[in-house]
Amino acid sequence: MTDTLATSSSVASARSSRLVTAIPGPKSEALHKRRIATVSEGVAATFPVYAESAHDATIIDVDGNEFLDLTGGIGVMTIGHTNEAVVAAVADQAEKVTHTLFAVAGYEPYIRVCELLAEHTPGTFAKKSVLVNSGAEALENAVKIARKHTGRTEVAVLHHGYHGRTNLTSAMNYNMHPYGTGFGPLAGSVHHAPNSSPFHDGLTGKEAAERTIAYLEKRVGASQIACLVVEPIQGEGGFIIPAEGYLPALLAWCHDNGIVYVSDEVQSGMARTGAYFASEHFGIEPDMVTSAKGIGGGMPIAAVTGRAEIMDASHPGGLGGTFGGNPVACAAVVAVFDEVKKKSLLKEADRVGAALTRGLNGLKDCFSHVADVRGIGAMVAIEFCDPETGKPAPEVAKAIQTYALHQGVLILTAGTFGNVLRFLPALVITDEQVDEAVAVMADALETL
Ligand SMILES: *Cc1c(COP(=O)(O)O)cnc(C)c1O
Repeated sequence: MTDTLATSSSVASARSSRLVTAIPGPKSEALHKRRIATVSEGVAATFPVYAESAHDATIIDVDGNEFLDLTGGIGVMTIGHTNEAVVAAVADQAEKVTHTLFAVAGYEPYIRVCELLAEHTPGTFAKKSVLVNSGAEALENAVKIARKHTGRTEVAVLHHGYHGRTNLTSAMNYNMHPYGTGFGPLAGSVHHAPNSSPFHDGLTGKEAAERTIAYLEKRVGASQIACLVVEPIQGEGGFIIPAEGYLPALLAWCHDNGIVYVSDEVQSGMARTGAYFASEHFGIEPDMVTSAKGIGGGMPIAAVTGRAEIMDASHPGGLGGTFGGNPVACAAVVAVFDEVKKKSLLKEADRVGAALTRGLNGLKDCFSHVADVRGIGAMVAIEFCDPETGKPAPEVAKAIQTYALHQGVLILTAGTFGNVLRFLPALVITDEQVDEAVAVMADALETL
């Protein structure tokens, strides 16, 4: 224990030497002043630093401070910041055509992205896609399509889920605050059912599925439900991994009752978990998959991919939008798929996940506030609870996040109670960088 900490301190001071000013530095502070004068306060400011450039798993701020980035822009930079292939594809496409509106004059990259999504989402059945601009917009469209396909109105979601910040998706989120507070009336016909979280509820997958299904059958009625929308691993909810058998049981129930099963893979998709899509780990083939975050390598793009007969439910003109499937963003997606294959990033996700899990379990052995370490591939979280009461300890997560910032390490919190730290680093992060981050966390816990 003492040995571990001695090593960790020296690693930590190596890290802090990459900081050249106090955090925030003067240029970040000046930008922050301008921001306060002109940017809506509705937009959160997690860290007080402003990025100048970034590469792979590091970000350099406007003051020249270098940060190890374990947030990956909330799981967007899966292939790493400024990946050379993505940068080249974007530059190349920008010189050819940046916009026509796909519905007006089509272009190849949009079609290529739909082909790649059909090929890499779970299931070998015929699939089609629609491309949009954000995760929330993908969820909006998934619900629209499911309603049109089934002729039903009701939408089922799970406790601790997160699906976006539009009116409908705010209604689909578990946490009213900050997503819905004062913004109502939120969309109706959304029903929140209990989820599966073995660490918290102690239920088997079968028991948890029975609870979810019983709730929906009583409260809504299976015949009224257009779709069930489920994150295979709940992201904002704190990387909650459902018990074995839970998702297959929900999928079987959906199919028995004509309900469209939508897997929200906006956070868990695109190589993050060591599979193209996390649904694969649970042996399920969803009717529809929503993807966004990681697919564009930093460009804003999202998709709904699903069974062809469901995706064709909409009449022409019912889906789309001005910017949906922008050619530059599509070119980036094609490059991302290419890079995942070329750099064996599915395997790299397992490597990064193993390094993180090993380090975090080391913290669990030393510090009683660490209640759980969990994850699949490079989607890993650590949960903090009070060792005496077992209650969530968000103050510990927050304190580590703040300490780490001042050591040049960016880490995100998560969880309905804010007591989880989640790791979504670029899959090109090195084991040494992961060890540095864990060492900084050890120092933070030691100083608490
Ligand atoms: C981030 C996220 C969304 C919303 O995506 P945006 O691009 O922010 O609109 C939806 N679902 C999940 C699971 C997410 O993690």
